[in-house]
Parts: sequence; structure tokens; C-alpha cells
Amino acid sequence: MPRKRIKRFIQVMETVDVSAHCDVCKTQIINGTEYYRVTRGHRDYGNDSIDAIEYKDICSDVCLHEEILAYGNEVSNTKFINIEKDTLELHQYIELKPNNSEV
Ligand SMILES: [Zn+2]
Repeated sequence: MPRKRIKRFIQVMETVDVSAHCDVCKTQIINGTEYYRVTRGHRDYGNDSIDAIEYKDICSDVCLHEEILAYGNEVSNTKFINIEKDTLELHQYIELKPNNSEV
């Protein structure tokens, strides 16, 4: 006998990026423009070092240079840094206003 099936409605909550700012100069990075995604950290504490991993959004070559210099001056036994240049892709959303009278 075939299994009986019904359809049910489910909702899924997800977290998406809707804005981004440069972690060096705090300028807003415009959606669709190029930026640097920097991942940095160390391995001083073995597996616990995962807590030391930082992700940074960087807006320009000037700010990237500043970030690298700052990281170079930090004191730790081990270091790693990964730099990726990419195009910022933010989630598009419409901000709902309270008591919106438009139909
Ligand atoms: Zn910047």
C-alpha cells in the first residue's frame, strides 16, 4: 500500500548580510563593488586557536596595507592570513515600516 502523504508549510529563518563596512576605515562598502575579505589568526593554542580566527572586510588597497601592517605588529608565535578579492554580494531586502498605510 502506498504511503499517505500530506503537504505542510514550513518556515525557515536564515541570517543574511544586508550591509558591510570596512573594518579599517569604517566606510560603508557598496553592494556590487570589489572589496577584500581577509581571514587571519594563529595556531598558538592548537585546536583552541579556532577562537582566534577573525574575518574582516576591507574596502581598498590602502586599507588592506594598513591591515597587513597592523597584523604584522601583533605578537604571536604563529600567524596566518588569507586575502581574497571579491565582489560584495549583499542580500537585497525591503525595510518594512511600522504602520505602513500603503496597500
Ligand atoms: Zn577602508
